[in-house]
Amino acid sequence: MPNVKITLDGAQYEVDNKKTILEAARDNKIHIPHFCYHDKLSASGNCRICLVEVEKMPKLAISCMTQVAEGMIINTKNERVINAREAVMEFILINHPLDCPICDEAGECKLQDYAYKYSKGFSRFVDTKNHKEKRVEIGPRVMFDAERCISCSRCIRFCDEIAGVHQLQFVNRGDRVTIQTFPGESLDNPYSMNVVDICPVGALTNKDFRFKSRVWEMSFTDSVCHGCARGCNIEIGVRNNEILRLNPRRNDDVNSAWMCDHGRLNTWKNVNAENRIKSSKIRKEGQLVEVGWDEAIAKAASELKSFGKNEIAVLGSAFATNEDNYVFAKFAREVLGTRNIDFCPHVEGTDDAVLIRADKTPNASGAELVGIVPQENGMDFQQIISAIKAGKIKALYCLEDDIASVPGIEDALSNLEFFAVHATNHSKTTQYAHVVFAASTYAEKNGTVTNFQKRVQRVRPAVTTFEQDRALDNFEMSRWDKFAAHNDKWGKGPRRDARPSWKIITSIAGVMGTKYKFNNADDVFNEICQKIDGFKGLSYLKVGVKGAVVKQNHVAV
Ligand code: SF4
Ligand code: SF4
Repeated sequence: MPNVKITLDGAQYEVDNKKTILEAARDNKIHIPHFCYHDKLSASGNCRICLVEVEKMPKLAISCMTQVAEGMIINTKNERVINAREAVMEFILINHPLDCPICDEAGECKLQDYAYKYSKGFSRFVDTKNHKEKRVEIGPRVMFDAERCISCSRCIRFCDEIAGVHQLQFVNRGDRVTIQTFPGESLDNPYSMNVVDICPVGALTNKDFRFKSRVWEMSFTDSVCHGCARGCNIEIGVRNNEILRLNPRRNDDVNSAWMCDHGRLNTWKNVNAENRIKSSKIRKEGQLVEVGWDEAIAKAASELKSFGKNEIAVLGSAFATNEDNYVFAKFAREVLGTRNIDFCPHVEGTDDAVLIRADKTPNASGAELVGIVPQENGMDFQQIISAIKAGKIKALYCLEDDIASVPGIEDALSNLEFFAVHATNHSKTTQYAHVVFAASTYAEKNGTVTNFQKRVQRVRPAVTTFEQDRALDNFEMSRWDKFAAHNDKWGKGPRRDARPSWKIITSIAGVMGTKYKFNNADDVFNEICQKIDGFKGLSYLKVGVKGAVVKQNHVAV
């Protein structure tokens, strides 16, 4: 790439000649403030806060739209630039309502941050501010407050350029300018809530999250969306051990800076839901009754022992982690001796052109890679269901999947003599189970999932279960550290007596006479990396925050 030499704030740099001044400065760790610029959208150059001085140019230049050139001498923080920035801030704030105390954006607002950093700290404006529409339902999932809008056009460009729908536009001029949907239209595209993330002020807010929490009272944990095989990188926002929102986390190899509204809204509410399974259950006299872990594990072990290996089938899960599926496949082969191993696929519709995948599970690739596949002469999913209907398969053990919600499966389940499931919530499937193990959700455990690109990505506990609380209590920590971990990260909110599936299976294997030395998810992943070719060379450290791609016989990090 041809480079040019420029001088930025007195220091010389060699930069790509295709870059703008703002990008060249950013690449060299010099921050130039900006509202309307977003590196995933076209530049519009309308906010003017990124003005810089370029020697020999008569006026200050907009750094987000001025390309670098050989010999350019640029000043980003001399007196002229600082005065211009302060004037722009004063101008933007003239009609701003300054309602930070009741604004959801407060604490993560660019305007608030820049007002501290780049403005004079007072206003000379004494007239009455312009009043505009407030609390407008601009779409089914987004609220608009026109008084807070600084007309940066990021939301308009997002709809046009990323979501591919022309739903927003500016109307009016001067200080009356505002955004609007086209007549009769609504901001309802499947990616509409990304405008909330990129709006640099609190003009666009998430209807689902509004007024639920101040952001500084929350903790944020890196994880992966479980809504489809894309595996968008996310940040789980929690207060008092309850999830309150998901936001996209940047990963240019997976989801860029975006996520879909379905993933954002519907993939975590089961964690706090009323129908959450809070502890394990056994069916007694037709009813599922709560029992302790030891009783549920002993019951499953003794029942599974009573069937011949050809009478048993197991279904792993494309919703469970690689670690859960790996231990399950190992248990099925080594302890139960069954060859009937598979999982239930969940494919609906087609992939879209942005992110959404037809495969509605986060880990179908991973489940297959770690061994959830029919063994030689074993049955696949459809054959297992047919064999249950025919009375040939009498016992089924199923991980974390509501298989009864798939048409044609429910009938088969009532034929089973023994049915054990791991589940996070009550469902159609648990209605048929003889033993239900309370499984941790993806937001309560450590592990990995593998997306459709075969990229292995980490999930981490964002909320805690009793199990983790107990582990923390047994852990060698100062009393102060324990207090901080309990109260700062997780608070005093509700807990469930759930365990990760790999751990439950390890306990059952132990009762059936096979001891696995897995004490945590890390131990399981290390064994996967030793035993499965594609994972060789990986570790949780190498997977890191952005993931690593599994390839045939080697791993590209
Ligand atoms: S609503 Fe937000 S993103 Fe849209 S133009 Fe106004 S300030 Fe910019
Ligand atoms: S595209 Fe898929 S993985 Fe991404 S947010 Fe939507 S449902 Fe989740």
